[in-house]
Amino acid sequence: MRRREFVSKTAASVLAAAGLGCQSGRSRDRRRTERAGAGMQPVLHHVRPTERHWVGDGFHVSTLVSPHRLDPQLISPFLLLDHAAPRRFEPAARRRGVGEHPHRGFETVTFAYRGEVEHRDSNGGGGLIEPGDVQWMTAASGVVHEEFQSQDFTSRGGLFEMVQLWVNLPAARKMSSPRYQPLRDADFPRVPVGDVEARVIAGGFDRRERGPAQTHSDINVSDLSVGSGAEARFRFADGTTTLLLVLAGKVRAQRSVDASAGELLVLDRRQPGDIELAGVEPARLLVLNGTPLGEPVVAHGPFVMNTADEVRQAYADYRAGRMGHL
Ligand code: MN
Repeated sequence: MRRREFVSKTAASVLAAAGLGCQSGRSRDRRRTERAGAGMQPVLHHVRPTERHWVGDGFHVSTLVSPHRLDPQLISPFLLLDHAAPRRFEPAARRRGVGEHPHRGFETVTFAYRGEVEHRDSNGGGGLIEPGDVQWMTAASGVVHEEFQSQDFTSRGGLFEMVQLWVNLPAARKMSSPRYQPLRDADFPRVPVGDVEARVIAGGFDRRERGPAQTHSDINVSDLSVGSGAEARFRFADGTTTLLLVLAGKVRAQRSVDASAGELLVLDRRQPGDIELAGVEPARLLVLNGTPLGEPVVAHGPFVMNTADEVRQAYADYRAGRMGHL
């Protein structure tokens, strides 16, 4: 779901964006390791929702994570997280969304919570996802795609809520073939974690059922329903990245930080430990965990590669039509 801006970027700004840790704006997020309970992983960042902006005319999002705002090495393998908090759309005739645009070098994962999203890409992937469904689109060597609210939803109107996550690919997989995985709510195993129910989309928790998504690196993605007063304590592998996005309600994490709907916690992967969540109010959370790739991140517009030359090549390939057409 990115973005018009790439069209006007120059080679000079591609270079400016090159290298580890695109710096612009990072100072806005004060790095502050909050106190955590004994044996627990500290919270590195508590990210409040940014002012929302439109992606196309269908997705009114707050960008909580991007390689330009947070050190990409400390959030690897994740790149970007856009949250379109619930918003009401009036019935309309013409679908709202974002038209044809390219991606290369990573995956876009779209979680529909309310309303419906239609997708179509130049690799032949496409379809409709409904509330609870997830679309796992691997751009890899390159696709052109479009993302819209569905025609039915457009006609009907109503509340719309979704999340889009960008997952980086290891260098060795960046130029592999694109892939499209439509994942249905009914296919996600529900597993108890303490008092909490997890809906497992990819990977899982230790010794439990696995989610159906196929991934290119070690990734665990679940969403959790946390009742008021419910508690869960769990742990992912040492050294891995964990992001917690509160979709609704309010939770206390690590016995020290209260996070409300729309807020994101980045745990400090340099300090291993448990994760403990308690429901302050009934809450829903998205839990993202993955093994850092440990490779350079050069992110520019719709392309995320390892070097500035590879980004320039991506623009050239897109302009020459080598990522296909809808
Ligand atoms: Mn897109």
